[in-house]
Amino acid sequence: MPPCESCRGQQVANLGLTGQHTNGLHPNSRSLGFRPMSTLSATVCLNCGRTTFYADDLAKIREAAQRHPDWFTW
Ligand SMILES: [Zn+2]
Repeated sequence: MPPCESCRGQQVANLGLTGQHTNGLHPNSRSLGFRPMSTLSATVCLNCGRTTFYADDLAKIREAAQRHPDWFTW
């Protein structure tokens, strides 16, 4: 793992979030009843706690952004 961008501390990856089926990533304009496009994985700095999220299914988000550019802020 590369060091933390804030404090250069040691980071650990491969953490998940609870409640992923309802709390994954989705466009804000389509949040009600819309199944999340992707779950999230997190990287956490063991020194300062800085947490970085990564989309697990980036391909789905890229596809949605191409098909529905109006759903997003660019
Ligand atoms: Zn840090």
